[in-house]
Amino acid sequence: MTMRTYEYFACPNGHQGEEKTTENDQPYSKCWESISIKGLRNGPYGSYLCEVCGLLMSRVPKPSA
Ligand SMILES: [Zn+2]
Repeated sequence: MTMRTYEYFACPNGHQGEEKTTENDQPYSKCWESISIKGLRNGPYGSYLCEVCGLLMSRVPKPSA
């Protein structure tokens, strides 16, 4: 079974991004995890920066649809 986890981010200018983590939790298969990001780019020390303006993104609650 594959599990997907979403984390949502926003920068001080209100741009939004998200991180999707996909992991395979089958005990008999090799453990793997893959992360894809949207609207973000990797910053120093494991942080994310805004893809648009380059400011530090902070984690936000899931936006209501
Ligand atoms: Zn921004």
